[in-house]
Amino acid sequence: MLEVEGLVKRFGGFTAVNQVSFKVDRGEILGLIGPNGSGKSTIFNMLSGTFQPSAGSIKFAGAEISGLAPHRIINRGIGRTFQIPRPFHRLTMFENVALAGYFGQGKHSRVKAEEAAERALGMVGLPTDRTAAVDGLGAAGLKKLELAKALATGPKLLLADESLGGLDETEMDQAADMLRKIRDELGITIIWVEHIMGVLMRVVDRVMVLDHGEKISEGLPSEVSNDPRVIEVYLGT
Ligand code: ADP
Ligand code: MG
Repeated sequence: MLEVEGLVKRFGGFTAVNQVSFKVDRGEILGLIGPNGSGKSTIFNMLSGTFQPSAGSIKFAGAEISGLAPHRIINRGIGRTFQIPRPFHRLTMFENVALAGYFGQGKHSRVKAEEAAERALGMVGLPTDRTAAVDGLGAAGLKKLELAKALATGPKLLLADESLGGLDETEMDQAADMLRKIRDELGITIIWVEHIMGVLMRVVDRVMVLDHGEKISEGLPSEVSNDPRVIEVYLGT
C-alpha cells in the first residue's frame, strides 16, 4: 500500500530524517518508535504533505504522492492525527469532526460529512449527539476526538501520532485496543508512532525503530525488542 524510498528531510544544515525506506502492507499495523527527536513526526509530516521531502519517494497505492498538497493526500486516502490535539473549542465535538470530514472529501458534501462524523464519533466511543462540547474533555477524550477527525476523512491509511501521550495505564490499553478495532472492523491500515514501546508492542504486526533520523531496526515486536541496538537506544535515554 505504501512504499517509501530514501526519504530525507533537512532543516537548514540539520538532517532530521536520513535515507529512510520502508513498506506498509494493506491491513497491517506498523509501529514506528524512537526516542524524542528521532524524526517520527517529521516522517508523518512528509507522508501527509505538511513538509516537502528534501529527497526520496513516497508511493501510495502505486502512485507517487511526495510533494502533493495536504488536502490532495487526504483525498487519496491518507488520514492523520496530530501529536498535540488542537480542536476548535467554540465548535461542538460533532462540528469539529464533521468539519474534518467535509474537507477530507473531494466532493464537500455536508450530508456525507455529517454521516461520516456520526460514524467516526461512534467508533471512538464519543457522544454522537450534535451538542456535546469539546471543553471538559480530558487527555483521553481529546485523543479520541483527534482519532474521530482523522477517521471522518475516510482514510485507507491512518497515521496515528503519539496516541498515548498524557494517558494513564488503563487509558493506554483502551487506546491500543481502539487502534486494533479500527484496523479489524474498518480494514484501515495503520502506522502508529510512539516514543515508548509499552502497549504498542502488543498490538502492532511489525515495528520500525528510528534513532537520530535513521532506521536502526525493523521486524516483529519480539525480534525488535531483543535487538541490541534498540536496547542500547532505549537504555541510553
Ligand atoms: P519525534 O517526532 O521523533 O519526536 P520530530 O520528527 O518532531 O521528532 O523531530 C526530529 C528533529 O527535527 C528534532 O531534532 C526536531 O527539533 C527537528 N525538527 C522538527 N521539525 C522541525 C522544523 N519545522 N524546523 C526545524 N527543525 C525541526
Ligand atoms: Mg513527534
